[in-house]
Amino acid sequence: MQREGADEISASSAPSRLDLFLFAVWAVGLSALALVLIRTPWLDALDSAVLLPTLMLVGAAILGEAKPIDTSVGPGETRSLSMSTPFVLALVAVSGGVALVAQVAASLTDDIVNRRDVKKSLFNVAQYSISVFVARVVYALLAGVPLFEGHAVVGTAQIAPLMVAGIAMVTVNWVLVAAVVSIASSQPFRLSSGEDVRTFISTNLMLLPTGGIAAMVADDGAIALVLLAAPVVAAHMFAAASAKHAHAVAHDSLTGLGNRGAMESRVRHALKAAREDELPGPGLVLIDLDHFKDINDTLGHSVGDTILQEVAQRLVDAAPDSVVHRLGGDEFAVVIDGDLRAAQRAANGLLASLDEPVLVEGLEILVRASAGIAVAPEHGHTSELLMKHADIALYRAKRERDGISVFDYRHDVNSVETLQLLAELRTALEHDQLRVVYQPQVNLRTGRMVAVEALVRWDHPARAKVGPDKFIPLAENSGLIFPLTAFVLDTSLAQIAQWRKVRHDLRLSVNLSARHLSDLSLPQQISNALDKHGVPASALVLEITETGILSDAVRADVVIRAIRAIGVEVAIDDYGTGNASLNYLKNLEVDELKVDRTFVGNIHSDRHDHAIVAYTVELALDLGLRVVAEGIEDERTAELLREMGEVIGQGHHLGRPVPPHEIVRRLALESERTSWSPRES
Ligand code: C2E
Ligand code: MG
Ligand code: MG
Repeated sequence: MQREGADEISASSAPSRLDLFLFAVWAVGLSALALVLIRTPWLDALDSAVLLPTLMLVGAAILGEAKPIDTSVGPGETRSLSMSTPFVLALVAVSGGVALVAQVAASLTDDIVNRRDVKKSLFNVAQYSISVFVARVVYALLAGVPLFEGHAVVGTAQIAPLMVAGIAMVTVNWVLVAAVVSIASSQPFRLSSGEDVRTFISTNLMLLPTGGIAAMVADDGAIALVLLAAPVVAAHMFAAASAKHAHAVAHDSLTGLGNRGAMESRVRHALKAAREDELPGPGLVLIDLDHFKDINDTLGHSVGDTILQEVAQRLVDAAPDSVVHRLGGDEFAVVIDGDLRAAQRAANGLLASLDEPVLVEGLEILVRASAGIAVAPEHGHTSELLMKHADIALYRAKRERDGISVFDYRHDVNSVETLQLLAELRTALEHDQLRVVYQPQVNLRTGRMVAVEALVRWDHPARAKVGPDKFIPLAENSGLIFPLTAFVLDTSLAQIAQWRKVRHDLRLSVNLSARHLSDLSLPQQISNALDKHGVPASALVLEITETGILSDAVRADVVIRAIRAIGVEVAIDDYGTGNASLNYLKNLEVDELKVDRTFVGNIHSDRHDHAIVAYTVELALDLGLRVVAEGIEDERTAELLREMGEVIGQGHHLGRPVPPHEIVRRLALESERTSWSPRES
C-alpha cells in the first residue's frame, strides 16, 4: 500500500492544520483498533483448523510490507510496491479482526526496520487501522456476516463483496495519504496526480483478486497458499532483476558512480525543477584529470583504475549535496543545484579535494584536474547545450592551464550558431534593429535619479530575445563592437542632451568593452561625439569591467588616463567578479566603483557578502570614489546599503532599464515632487 505520504509529515509548513489532521487520524484509527481488539472473539478467529493458513497469511502480509518490490523511476528515485494488500484483504474475509492486527504488525515491523520516527509510525498504524476497518465493515455488510465474527469459509459468492471491500480499503488509504500530503505541502488536494500515481493505484487494484483467491483457498490448508505464493515470488524476482539491470545501465562499474546517461537525465530533471520553481541553475561542472593517459601508460591500468576510484570518492565527499557522475575515461561531471556562484564554489572545492597526493602501491601520485562550468539559463537551457558549453569551457581550461573556466560565448567562436548570429548582428547594426534603454541610478538617501546607464537591446525579428550577455561577447570578438559602441554613444548622448534641459546635472553611463582599451583613437571619438550633441564631458561616465582592466592593466591605464584627460569620468563595472585587490584600486585613477550585483543581491542573507560590500564601500568612499551598488532588488537591500554611507543604487527595485519616454515621465514626476518639497536636493 501507499505510505510515502508519511514522509511529508516532517516537511510541514502549516503545523497547526497538519497537527489537527494527524490527531483526528490517530484518534479514529486507534479507536478502530481498540474496538477490534475488544470485540473480536479471538479463540474463534484462531480456531486450530485454520490456525496455520491464518498465520501464513499474517506472515505473508508482514513479509510483503517489509520487502516491497522496488523499481527505479528516475535518477536516484525509486518507487516501491508493498505486497501486503492481497494478504490483508484475504484476512479481512477469513478472520476479521486478525486482518487489522496483521496489517498493524506489518506496518510496525516496516517502520522499525526503517527507523521511522514515532509520529510517522503512529500515522501509518492509524491510517491502516482505518482502511482495514472500513474494508471489514463493507465486507460484513455486503456478504451479510457479523462484523466481529471469527473465522469464516469464503466461497465464490463472497468474492464480489470482498473485491468491493478491497477497493474501499485501497481508496481510504489513498485519500488519507493524499490529504496529509496536501496539508503538509499546502498544495491543493489531488487524489491521483500524475501518471505515476495512477499506475500505482491501478497496480494495487490488480493485486486485489490475488487476495480473493487466497481467501478461497485458505480453507484448503497451507499447501494451497504456498502454491499461490509462487507467482508473487516470481514477480519479486523479476522486479529485482530488472532493478539490478536498471542500475547497471545507469552506473559505471569501476567507480559505482552514475554514467553519462544518468547525468543527462539528472540535468533534465534539475532543469525542469529549476524552471518550475523559477530558480537559476542547474550548473554543470565537467572535470577532466590532467595527464591521466601518461599515468595509465607508465604505471599500468590497475594503478590507473585505483586512482580513478580514489578520485571518484574524493569528488563525492567534496560535493555532498550534488551528484557526481563518471562520463568515461578520466572525465567526471557534477550537477549543481544553484547559480553560477554556487557552481564556481563547488568547482573550487572539487579541485581542492585532489590537492593531496593519491597513494597507490607505495607511490604518492599527484593528480591534477581542470574544470569547465556551464550554468542554466545563461549558458543554455537544454542538457545538450549545457553539456556542449561545459565541454568548451573545459577545453579552454585545459589549454590555458587555468584550472577552472566558465563558459563564455566568446569561446564558442566557430560554431554554426555563433557565426549565424554574428551575421545577423551585422545586419541589425546596419538596419537600425538595435536600440538603447536606460536604467536609473538613484541616490539612496534622497531617492533622486542622478544618472542613467545606457544598455543596448537587440529586437531580433525572428529569434526570441537575444540578451547583451550573449551578443556583446560576439561583437567584441569580431570587431563589431566598435560600430556598436559608436551607435550607443551617439544615441544616448542625443538623449541626455534633451534630458539635461530638464535636469541639468543628470549623468550618463555608457559601457565600454575591453577591446576599446587598446584603441588609442577612442578619446578623440568620444570628444567628437560630446561636441556633436553639446554635452559637457563631465556628464559622461564610461564603464569598464574589472576583468577587462585586469586583462591588460598597463594598456588600460594608458587609455583610462587619456579618457580622464578630456574630462570624462571612468567607472569600474562589475567590481568583485575579477580578482582585483582593494589595494590595486588605490593605484587606479578612476572616479566611480560599481559593486557587482552578485554581492549586492546577497547582503541581507549572506554575512560574508555583507562584510565584503560594507568594507568595499567604506574604502572606496575613503579614496574619494563614487560608489554605485548594482542589482538592488528589494527595500531591505537598499536599507542596508544606505547604512553603509553615501551610496548610489541601481537595480530592479529602483527602476528597470526602460525606453526613453519612461525616463522623461520619471523626470517630470520627480520635478513635480521637488517643487512641492523645496528642502529636498
Ligand atoms: P552591466 O553593465 O553590469 O549592466 C547591468 C546589467 O544588470 C543589465 O543587464 C541590467 O539589466 C541588469 N540589472 C539591473 N538591475 C538589476 C537587478 O536588480 N537584478 C538583476 N538580476 N539584474 C539587474 P543587461 O542589460 O542584460 O546587460 C548585461 C551586460 O551587457 C551589462 O552589464 C554590460 O556589461 C553589457 N552591455 C549592455 N549594454 C552594453 C553596451 O551598450 N555596450 C557594451 N560594451 N556592453 C553592454
Ligand atoms: Mg555597466
Ligand atoms: Mg555591472
